[in-house]
Amino acid sequence: MADRPCDLCQLAHYTQWYAEFHHPFRFTILDCDSCDVPIVVLGEHRVEVTLEEVAYMEKALSLVAEQRFAGKFSKWIFDHQMRQIPDHYHFHVRPLLW
Ligand SMILES: [Zn+2]
Ligand SMILES: [Zn+2]
Repeated sequence: MADRPCDLCQLAHYTQWYAEFHHPFRFTILDCDSCDVPIVVLGEHRVEVTLEEVAYMEKALSLVAEQRFAGKFSKWIFDHQMRQIPDHYHFHVRPLLW
């Protein structure tokens, strides 16, 4: 375990929250405070996820992205690269600028 508490285990409420899922597994969709785009954060501190879990989270996140980017961007991509917190699964949805 890390010495300092994981930011993704202790999600702050100072950005927009969109949804909290409890079933079939726990995850939250909210705006990333550094990137200002929606992210999915897994409700457990782990980095291994199944393909089914990823597909489910992508589906939920695309609903949020549709609303968030409506009128501004028509395409977006899921960015599964975890740069700052590599041991707690999360991913961004980022607008395609071209
Ligand atoms: Zn964590
Ligand atoms: Zn970010």
